[in-house]
Amino acid sequence: MSGSSAPSGGLLAVHAHPDDETLSTGALLATWAGAGRPVTVVTCTRGERGEVIPADLAHLAGDGAALAAHREGELARALEALGVRDHLFLDEVAVPGAAPARFADSGMIWVGPGKAGEPSELPDDAFVTVGVDAAARRLARVIVDRRPEVVVGYEPGGGYGHPDHVHAHRVMELAVRLAADGPERFRVPAVIWAAQDVRELDAGCREVAPRAEPPLVPVEPDGAAPSLAVAGDLIDLRVEVAPVIDRLGAALRAHASQVQAVRTWDATTDGVAVGCFALSNGRLLPLLRTEGYRFAPGWLRGPVGWPPGVLVA
Ligand SMILES: [Zn+2]
Repeated sequence: MSGSSAPSGGLLAVHAHPDDETLSTGALLATWAGAGRPVTVVTCTRGERGEVIPADLAHLAGDGAALAAHREGELARALEALGVRDHLFLDEVAVPGAAPARFADSGMIWVGPGKAGEPSELPDDAFVTVGVDAAARRLARVIVDRRPEVVVGYEPGGGYGHPDHVHAHRVMELAVRLAADGPERFRVPAVIWAAQDVRELDAGCREVAPRAEPPLVPVEPDGAAPSLAVAGDLIDLRVEVAPVIDRLGAALRAHASQVQAVRTWDATTDGVAVGCFALSNGRLLPLLRTEGYRFAPGWLRGPVGWPPGVLVA
């Protein structure tokens, strides 16, 4: 076995749109980068069908090219805040025999409180219409090149049901297999899914509810939990948010077209929330004290050197 197949000690995150790297894995990325270890973020689309929140950016809504360009800038600033220097859009990864392509945001509709579904009309180049196989070949190329110790992405429900997130999960799952089965035989030591402790999420929503001033609204306590929310004993890893909260707050604020009402507070206060924010639906969400992850089934707890701040259950 040649030494070239050894993991690099790096982390590779697979995300659907600009802002997801911060919203679902921001503390992990900042912690990993802060430990001086390699971090790569792969973003599948440029989020050109996202809903635009601030009035001063309203001109971007519906103008896919302009919104994509704007969100590329937001992403670059967020990655800088998190300390991430290595970023790729998945459609920029060249693989033999694949024609140049552009993977577009598929869009979504809200189908319930905090739950997204597929829109009735998809753009021609929608990411969800790109074959899992074709997209996974590109991602596998990145995996064998960067040789990460850990690959992180979404659980099968895509966190909250967005079709691009569900697709990104499938692409990631196949890509780690292609990397392991390909000529390089690179097996990622650990694949993890972003997750939240459902009780902490509920408690955090209740804690931040009094801060929801119109037009923001508190999350209804009986609202159906998103698919990433699981029982606490299913959470395998917890990343401490307090040591990186300034970086995380700055990264959230960098995504101003998508994220509003970002606040962080002294993490020595009681409670599970150390901050709050809202997306385009205006529901005020907590920034939890720890960011949770699960090991993907079949991807054992390989010999991974977790950086300080990542607590293994
Ligand atoms: Zn997204």
